Amino acid sequence: MGSIKLLTIRGIPIRMHITFPLILVLAAFQFGLAGADWVRGAVFGVIVTLLLFVGVVLHELAHSLVAMGFGTKVREIVLLPLGGVARMENLPERPSQELLMAVAGPVASAVIGATLGAITRLTLPDEIWWEFLPAIAEGRPQWTHLLPYLAFVNIFLAAFNLIPAFPMDGGRVLRALLAAMMPYGRATAIAVSIGQGLAWLMGLVGLLRRDVLVMLVALFVYIGATQEGRMTQVKLALAGLKVGRAFSRRALPVGPNDSLAHAVDLTLEGFQSDFPVCDGEKLVGMLTRADILLGLKEHGPTAAIHRVMRQSYPVASPDDDLFEVQQRMSQAGLEAIPVVEGAAFQGLLTRQDLEEVYTLVSARPGLLRGEERERLKNREAENAKN
Ligand SMILES: [Zn+2]
Repeated sequence: MGSIKLLTIRGIPIRMHITFPLILVLAAFQFGLAGADWVRGAVFGVIVTLLLFVGVVLHELAHSLVAMGFGTKVREIVLLPLGGVARMENLPERPSQELLMAVAGPVASAVIGATLGAITRLTLPDEIWWEFLPAIAEGRPQWTHLLPYLAFVNIFLAAFNLIPAFPMDGGRVLRALLAAMMPYGRATAIAVSIGQGLAWLMGLVGLLRRDVLVMLVALFVYIGATQEGRMTQVKLALAGLKVGRAFSRRALPVGPNDSLAHAVDLTLEGFQSDFPVCDGEKLVGMLTRADILLGLKEHGPTAAIHRVMRQSYPVASPDDDLFEVQQRMSQAGLEAIPVVEGAAFQGLLTRQDLEEVYTLVSARPGLLRGEERERLKNREAENAKN
């Protein structure tokens, strides 16, 4: 949501976030205001930024292709004003795989930078290396500066991403190395803290130099590091837990021939806001709060539920892994997911159920059953070996 698809490469949609053009505007201003000929500077700024993002796409593709080689599904690559993100369904399990995946991006940037550098060296006079940075800074860019500048920035990107702190790629490398010596959770916490510390430092530098871009990057780094930490916490807290322990068997189903008004009544009485639609024991559809509202608007309260309900939606079985189901739920943008055995409806797993389990488990890890604790430990031991 909030992004526009540009193209698809190897089955991966490359999308542009709607805020992406902001960086082009910023580049036009920054390059344009630097010198006398502001139109020329602005055009140069926009073109150089677009070409830089071609490099960013290749960087993210490198991560994605390695991840796909390890069986990870890559949902999309999104271009944001401050960089690109490859969204993956589940990260490679083993630290060694995560390490290779993390290193692939910076390696791609370094190769692009080195190639452009070599082309510069073969086609342009050597003086260009001394000229291009001051010329661009002083607002008198030449088109011949494009090649060495792109070479320079791609090498910089490779180096910046190897800083050993989350959310940079180097943070993943660091965690993978630490995870060989200590539990995964602690390794993550260390890489997250370094990232947050670095963000504060960058923010301070940006403030002292009154550089908005540096302050924005600092904010980006801080949020990224914090999100990574939280994501890992949730994953570890839910690791080894099954849907069967978390879902509610008392969820009320509605019938396909009931009216929308019936579902509204149940919602108002405070039972639920999302309903499984059942024909006898059999689950035949799902009616969310949004479906009810839309149905009321389009068909009125007397319309039968089967006209409004959705027929394609994710389901879970009691044996499914809780973390995976949580991912499935947030990808589908649902607040609840029906739990079935075969086609028979068993109950509903809601976001609230998940939050309860998460709170309980992270407050008192002892609540995990013995066997689940064992599996957690085994997983950590197995990770440490790789
Ligand atoms: Zn990267």
